Formats: sequence, C-alpha cells, structure tokens
Amino acid sequence: MMSEKRVRHILSLSGGTDSTAIAIYLRDRIPDLEYVFCDTDKELPETYEYLDRVEAYLGRPIVRLKHDGRGFDHHLILRRGYLPSPRMRWCTQQLKIKPYERYVGDDPVLSYIGIRADEDRQGYISRKPNITPVYPLKDDGLVKADVFRLLESSGLGLPRYYEWRSRSGCYFCFFQQRIEWVGLLENHPELFEAAKSYERYGEGENRFAWVESETLEELERPERVAQIRAEHARRMARQERATANRSLLDLFSDTIEAWQIEMGCTICEI
Ligand code: SF4
Repeated sequence: MMSEKRVRHILSLSGGTDSTAIAIYLRDRIPDLEYVFCDTDKELPETYEYLDRVEAYLGRPIVRLKHDGRGFDHHLILRRGYLPSPRMRWCTQQLKIKPYERYVGDDPVLSYIGIRADEDRQGYISRKPNITPVYPLKDDGLVKADVFRLLESSGLGLPRYYEWRSRSGCYFCFFQQRIEWVGLLENHPELFEAAKSYERYGEGENRFAWVESETLEELERPERVAQIRAEHARRMARQERATANRSLLDLFSDTIEAWQIEMGCTICEI
C-alpha cells in the first residue's frame, strides 16, 4: 500500500513585520517549518539585512526563491520594458507566486499567512488544491500591537526601512506613497536613480512611469519634494489629533496602517 505524503509546513517571509512575527510565534511550535523568501532581486538593502537577522534568530535557513533563477530585469525584458502597475501586476505573479508554487510542487502543504485578527483581507490564496492557507495570527486573535510586541521581545525589532517606509517589497514598488519615494530619494539616492532609469525604457506616449501622473524626474524636484512633505505633515497632524489620547505605540501603528490602506497592497507578503 502506498504511504500518504507527509504534510509540509511552509512560511513565506517577506521581510515585513507580520510574516516575521509568525516566524517568531511558530518557531518553537512547529519544528519542521520551512522558511522561504521570494527574491525579486530588487528588495531594499534593509530587507536583505533584516532577513539575515531573522535567519540567525530562527537558527534555520531561509530558502531564497526565484522564478527560473531570474529576477525582475529578466522578466521586464521579456515584456519589452512594460513596467508592472496596479492594473498589470505581472511582477507578483512571476516573482512571488510562481517561485513559491514551484517550490511547493505537488506536496500537501500548510501555507502560513501573515494576516492579523484586526485585518479584513484574505491574502494570497493559491489555486493549487494541495496548498491550504493557515492564519495563525488571525486564528489566535493577535493584532498589530501583538505583532510589535513579538518583534520587540525577540530582539529583532522593526526592519530599519520603517524609519521612512511602511512595508517591504521592491524599492521601486508602484504601491508606494509619494512620501516614500521621497524617503527612497533621501535614504538610497542610487536606488532612486535606478528606479528613474526604468522609466526611460519607453518613449513619448509609451513612456512608463512608476507613479500615476508624474515621472520620478518631476517628483524629485526640490519644490515638489517640499510640497509632498507638507501634504504628508498635514495628514500626520490630522492623524495625531484623532489619536491624541492614545499611546505612542498605537499612534505609530495607526500611521503605518493608514499608509498601507492607501497603498492598497500587502500582497508581496504571500
Ligand atoms: S513589491 Fe511591488 S513591485 Fe515588487 S513584486 Fe510586489 S507588487 Fe511588484
């Protein structure tokens, strides 16, 4: 008689807070948990550094996955320089979902998803019948304050990009807010230049841009940067007034949440 296949437990880390919190939460509960990271080749240096620290904390390897062993640039050439966008998000499909599903193969898998109890979304649901999503944070009622506590008590803390950006993902991610592009310009001018160079692929009407209605060349002008900063400060002041009686942790968490909601993207944490 054929023996049944063993169920594998897999957590796809994104270099963000929620998937890292799950890794901490489950480290001693599921000893054979496999950790993977779908690498686009275009993540922030802070993300790669954070993943190295997470790996050291876990004491287990985080397997780096790439579709066909190739990163973003290869897939961009195949698409003749057609940049991904919220409407044409080929990057997530090619660089996050496909490598993950290929790694899983046909084995029965419990796939751990970083969605909290205070979120109303499903995240990535595979069409492959052998992949079953599991939501440990949501199922155990853990909210964002619990995530921050887990990160703090583990000693890992927040990823360094949190000083100027709200989530992991490619440095040129089109879901970024303008203030985060300004953060990229100031923290990684060389990556901002690299992001600009992608916008030069097309010409005239076919010219692509990461941000709707303006190019990065326009966005980096000092007067435009000042305007973006002022708009952001006004928004933060409104937020602060609304949360005046709450703790600093809540305020910080809400700020992050507001950005995430506006960006409408948390996918690359599959
Ligand atoms: S982080 Fe943004 S650009 Fe990168 S794969 Fe995800 S959606 Fe695409």
